Amino acid sequence: MMEKGLLAHAYLLVGASEAGKDILAFSLAKLLLCEKPHFGKDLPSPCGSCSGCLKFEHQTHPDLVILKPQGAMIKLNQIRDLQRALSFSPLDSQRRVCLILEAQKINLPAANALLKTLEEPPGGNHLILTATSARTLLPTIVSRCQVIHCEGLSVRALIEQIKEERLCHSDLAQFLACFSEGSISKARDLIEQDIFSVRENLLEFLKSKREKALFMLFVLSKQISNKRENILLAVQVIRTFLRDLMMLKEIQGKDRKEQKELGVQILFNPDYENELQAISHRFSSQNLAEYCQWLDKVEWLLDRNISREFLAESALIFWIRKRR
Ligand SMILES: [Zn+2]
Repeated sequence: MMEKGLLAHAYLLVGASEAGKDILAFSLAKLLLCEKPHFGKDLPSPCGSCSGCLKFEHQTHPDLVILKPQGAMIKLNQIRDLQRALSFSPLDSQRRVCLILEAQKINLPAANALLKTLEEPPGGNHLILTATSARTLLPTIVSRCQVIHCEGLSVRALIEQIKEERLCHSDLAQFLACFSEGSISKARDLIEQDIFSVRENLLEFLKSKREKALFMLFVLSKQISNKRENILLAVQVIRTFLRDLMMLKEIQGKDRKEQKELGVQILFNPDYENELQAISHRFSSQNLAEYCQWLDKVEWLLDRNISREFLAESALIFWIRKRR
């Protein structure tokens, strides 16, 4: 794209932590600021010796702007400063590159201000955003960027690695691998967070009759609302159950061989297949899809100063309200 002069003015790199987003963002920035990039048969690369490359290496390039959260959030004044910087021509090279790291932490006023810049950045400016997931951003921001998914390791490679490091029992490796989004360090963190107990409790909640589920809702939401990360983890685990329930509905009535071909073996929670099968009638496919959208909202609101207890309860109550 660069060789043909077809670069987009805004890229959004999404992927789990340590899936390689930052490395890609900085490599792309260096390439864009290099005065004599090499275009060969392989991927283009910066020359490493021009003044652009040297300034980049010494972190003194005047046309590289790096914006990341100040404290917990990216705030409006930071975006205003960025807009001011962009209104001047690049100082040293033909282009200016702005990296907006951890863009999922942008607050709402800042996000709205950024929209204008993304729509029509002044000529010569390239914006590169990184975020853990496109779901955590305003859809209007995502639609103005070219999205690149950084996927990290494949599930199969990750399962091998998990087994080698003996992070969990081999029956549980598939869930851990699917859940870790290509990152072995995320898999290790999840074990630290006791992911399997979280999953067991949430499945128990989904399986329970209405009265017990109501009781569990209060106990569970108290447990998970102590930390933002715990709510996020619960939301993501519930999403894997919903996804598996959708898949099970899809393959219902088909014989085992056909099911295998259609991918029952790629359930996130293959060890809970029977339990999930038993509750799959409680939700229509539409309810499942709505619940997923509901969880997207909860996840989005998590970074936006809303009471954690309220969000923890919201994440769970949908199931009780809509189940048959
Ligand atoms: Zn160079």
